[in-house]
Amino acid sequence: MKLEELEQKNSLIRKMACGQEITWINPELTDSKKAMKGISVTPEEVADAEARLKRFAPFIKMCFEETEETDGLIESPLREIPAMKEAMNRQGNCGIEGRMMLKMDSHLAVAGSVKARGGIYEILKYAESLALSQGMIKKSDDYTRFASPQMKQFFSQYSIHVGSTGNLGLSIGIISAALGFQVNVHMSADAREWKKALLRSKGVRVIEYSGDYGRAVKEGRALAEKDPRGYFVDDENSKNLFLGYAVAAGRLKKQLEEQQIPVDPEHPLMVYIPCGVGGAPGGITYGLKLEYGDNVYVFFVEPTQACCMVLGMMTGLHDEICVQDIGLSGKTEADGLAVGRPSKFVGRTISRMLAGEFTIEDRKLYQYMKLLMDTEGIFIEPSACAAFEGPARLHTDGETRDFLRKNGLETRETSTTHIVWATGGSLVPEEVRNQYYERTDKNELS
Ligand SMILES: *Cc1c(COP(=O)(O)O)cnc(C)c1O
Repeated sequence: MKLEELEQKNSLIRKMACGQEITWINPELTDSKKAMKGISVTPEEVADAEARLKRFAPFIKMCFEETEETDGLIESPLREIPAMKEAMNRQGNCGIEGRMMLKMDSHLAVAGSVKARGGIYEILKYAESLALSQGMIKKSDDYTRFASPQMKQFFSQYSIHVGSTGNLGLSIGIISAALGFQVNVHMSADAREWKKALLRSKGVRVIEYSGDYGRAVKEGRALAEKDPRGYFVDDENSKNLFLGYAVAAGRLKKQLEEQQIPVDPEHPLMVYIPCGVGGAPGGITYGLKLEYGDNVYVFFVEPTQACCMVLGMMTGLHDEICVQDIGLSGKTEADGLAVGRPSKFVGRTISRMLAGEFTIEDRKLYQYMKLLMDTEGIFIEPSACAAFEGPARLHTDGETRDFLRKNGLETRETSTTHIVWATGGSLVPEEVRNQYYERTDKNELS
């Protein structure tokens, strides 16, 4: 399709094609019951995923001592960040009211990013199905058996392949190596050196490609297909990843309850999540809609040069369009979001659940990073910082102000809870953190 034709579908495309930031309100957003009709995932599948993660908790606890405290559940803190909110309001005139919280998947055990949810879940599910089908285990067994030498020996006959910009490879690589699989991570040119080095240190085979993420995925898929005992984690089309991410919502609900933060029509919840191929934010969105229905509003944030999900959703073309089709590079400092073509099924699945999208220029990522460090003493990686653009623009853009008014949210601003989903960061080496921190030329938000 030509650019002119696309522009007729949505006038925002011209701005996007010029690399400018946009705010998109999803015209298809509807009540959550209707939004769930006709989609290919079910609440039972999310419950099944949660139950599987519980079965594996003793194994996780045994292999990864940092999960001792949570009894083998891989879960992250939910923390209020009032100083960051205040600084954003002061420096950027953001006008954020209510509570602002950080969901710290940046600090998830084992893999240090949101990928510890989906990636680890998918490998555990595959390992379980292999072990069950070969009679190595029963569902009622103690799953610490997965750590036995016999199991490792068994899994070493199988290999895992995955394409990654970095974090998915880390999560799949670490868990697969712990189970004993042979692991091959196909990395795009955007992947950071330290992520490759860390994987290699765990015995993972890292294969590098000069192309982008789509290329790494394609090559990985082709190699896995040739291997009769190969399994390919398909980030562009994986329901298992999606389900692993979706489990986050029920856990978040517990945390909000523990902190006595209500979510109801008088106390709406607004959630902002960085988006790459769409699996992580999409799965979380679906989970949140299951838990909170119409009381939760979810916004995604993507880099201006890699805004594939919003492009796919606003045109209705989903994976049949990529950012290069409108002349964008797909290149961004937010390595975890450096994706040119969205998932095959996520956009379609959440097409009536997502409230909207913001796109963000790269330079702002480092400003938010520094501000969060200076105000709250928390480090998160560049990709994760994109989420701050949500609350920053919610009250300042005309489109979102309209949206707030139409949905009766304007009068509830002081009782709104904003959750910024910090999707990664704790594994970033000190030296690299310092380099990032020095990147901001200005101290103030702009
Ligand atoms: C992968 C990733 C995302 C986005 O997840 P997708 O499933 O690709 O949409 C966001 N932030 C970080 C840090 C990531 O690694």
